[in-house]
Amino acid sequence: MFLVGRGERIVPVGPPEPQHCPRCGEVTDFQPRLRYQYGSFDMLFGFTYGKRYELACPQCGHGWRLDTRTMERSLGRVPIPFRLRFGLLVLAGLMALLAAAWAFRHNG
Ligand SMILES: [Zn+2]
Repeated sequence: MFLVGRGERIVPVGPPEPQHCPRCGEVTDFQPRLRYQYGSFDMLFGFTYGKRYELACPQCGHGWRLDTRTMERSLGRVPIPFRLRFGLLVLAGLMALLAAAWAFRHNG
């Protein structure tokens, strides 16, 4: 069975920072977070797109983007599951192996 899914995830990536929210007009605990969209095939191989780090107000969602490179350097890792980050590479590798096996069989 071949399942295709997609969705959006929001992952908190650090302790909240008190910031003044211009929309709420008060200081709230802004949450640094990573937002990304993903697609997956067969619940196994996947890919991500629209990845961005942001700092957002917990009450109204107002916020701003954070620099991806700076965030990933300070986090030391990217909080996206391996199968979603590199799933297409794994899938491409498997297909290359299958193609090689097929060519080997039919050539000799
Ligand atoms: Zn707000």
